Amino acid sequence: MRGGLDVGIAGCGVAGLALGTLLAKAGWRVTIYDRLEKPAPLGSGLIVQPVGMAVLAKLGLAGRARELGARIDRLFGRVLPTDRVVLDVRYRALDPLSHGIGVHRGALFEILFAAAVAAGVAFEPHRDVRAAKSGRFQFADGSESAHFHLLVDALGVRSPLSPKAGRPLAYGALWASLDWPDGGGFDAHALEQRYVAARRMVGVLPIGRLGEQAPQQAAFFWSLKGGDLGAWRNTSIDVWKDEVRSVWPQTEPFLAQVKTHNDLVFANYTHRTLATPLSRGIVHVGDSFRCTSPQLGQGANMALLDAFALSHALTSVRGLDEALEAYARMRLTHTQLYQLASWLFTPVYQSDSSMLPFLRDWIAGPLSRIPPVPQILAALVTGAIGSPLQAIGAEPMDARAATMLPSADVSS
Ligand SMILES: Cc1cc2nc3c(=O)[nH]c(=O)nc-3n(C[C@H](O)[C@H](O)[C@H](O)COP(=O)(O)OP(=O)(O)OC[C@H]3O[C@@H](n4cnc5c(N)ncnc54)[C@H](O)[C@@H]3O)c2cc1C
Repeated sequence: MRGGLDVGIAGCGVAGLALGTLLAKAGWRVTIYDRLEKPAPLGSGLIVQPVGMAVLAKLGLAGRARELGARIDRLFGRVLPTDRVVLDVRYRALDPLSHGIGVHRGALFEILFAAAVAAGVAFEPHRDVRAAKSGRFQFADGSESAHFHLLVDALGVRSPLSPKAGRPLAYGALWASLDWPDGGGFDAHALEQRYVAARRMVGVLPIGRLGEQAPQQAAFFWSLKGGDLGAWRNTSIDVWKDEVRSVWPQTEPFLAQVKTHNDLVFANYTHRTLATPLSRGIVHVGDSFRCTSPQLGQGANMALLDAFALSHALTSVRGLDEALEAYARMRLTHTQLYQLASWLFTPVYQSDSSMLPFLRDWIAGPLSRIPPVPQILAALVTGAIGSPLQAIGAEPMDARAATMLPSADVSS
């Protein structure tokens, strides 16, 4: 389909910004609405996997993400009290040069936002979207948007436009972006975690810098049940620090940076998969289409893949309805596979179960070192299972190049 149509996107997150930029570059007139006064990122940091980097390369942004981010070679975890290694996924098991990029959410947002502005996307902040009808968004103050040929829901986990609310998961996590300690003994290229059964988890993820002059940082997280958040807030922060120390004493340089409860943000997780990303008069991308816990680190990648698939369908398939159907087909298998994997893996790391962590520690852990399991786990983490790039008309080579080669950016 040729450019020139008007698209309204609700949500200025990863999915909305990536889609808006791709469509604006293809000649569409794009307006993005967000309830925030000034668009801003929420949360700490995340891993952009090779498939997500391939989409950033299509946007011409992979080089910048690599400059600001941190190379992630390995996901590594030990369980207490035995200190056994129960998670050890190495990207190189799949490809010697493969890796993810740990990135500060703020840095990823700035990169995507600048690209959207440069592509000519219009922004309407302070717009609380409540509904969509007849080609218009309806806002909380009772007003309506202009009319659009296409409405896109990129409102994330709690989208009021999504036809299904999703199942809130018992466990979420406290998150903070903290400065990377010099000589702390942490691996600057690994996501590291420590567990007590599946009830306790503390993690450190290198996420690079917010900008050239900013310090190197880590996303620091602590697993917590949503129902225990009030009790945590009402207890001294020192009690919590003692608990973290008892699980992973070496985190002291991070704990020293936490002064009050307000230095940590609680994120709760929801599991939802729509049977199709198409509802009446609206198309869903990113977390509004499907969301889950971040155990597999795929949400932002999914959002980027959705954005690329939808823009590819809209700009290459004749007819709006046909293009939307093509988008839904492109994203179905990959979405179903990863939602199933996440549904299976999440309680292994975050639940009250005694059986699942026992199986993890004594059966799955040892098995994960026997070929071809390391290769399968690496493929799962990179986001490559289900061949999402081929499904949306991009080459698997794009993912390899995007994480590794300075010349990977392919955008004009
Ligand atoms: C703690 C945590 C860690 C994660 N780690 C990873 C990881 O390592 N790797 C990975 O790939 N993914 C990770 N994810 C998932 C990833 O962050 C999400 O999947 C991704 O941000 C989804 O992008 P999105 O654009 O769909 O939604 P979002 O990025 O959430 O953007 C939604 C936008 O909509 C706006 N909005 C919401 N409601 C309204 C409304 N009613 N009206 C107007 N505007 C509204 C919000 O202000 C926001 O700007 C993690 C998520 C969490 C919570």
